[in-house]
Amino acid sequence: MQLDELYREVILDHNKHPRNFGRLDPHDAEAKGHNPLCGDRLTVTVLREGDRVTDIRFEGNGCAISMASASMMTEAIKGRDRAAIETLFQQMHALLTGTGSASADLGKLASLAGVREFPARVKCATLCWHTLNAALARSDAVPASVSTE
Ligand code: ZN
Repeated sequence: MQLDELYREVILDHNKHPRNFGRLDPHDAEAKGHNPLCGDRLTVTVLREGDRVTDIRFEGNGCAISMASASMMTEAIKGRDRAAIETLFQQMHALLTGTGSASADLGKLASLAGVREFPARVKCATLCWHTLNAALARSDAVPASVSTE
């Protein structure tokens, strides 16, 4: 395995200096993610205004791919609404599973494209996205459970 191909400069930088690392308190949504194949663990906290994620932080520990992916994800989705986040997630998923090519929208996230050569690591890169989706779905459920009828 050519690790130097996988661990590119951007990934190393984000792993060493993760952006938006920590915890938002208070927050509107929180979820924990675990990738047992590699041992990566993440907690994502989110502030939202209606449909828009206005702030996001993550904390946890894991391999360079999982940490760098989470760091880049937080930068990419901050300020975006749910539809835009879903579009980015679909593009990321296609990129990582080899069915899509890097689109301009992905920006730095495209640096994770090399992960597709290492199928066991794809879950490391997508863990943060699944965790974010879980947090948003959970916070959606809160207002839905309050009925005015
Ligand atoms: Zn990992």
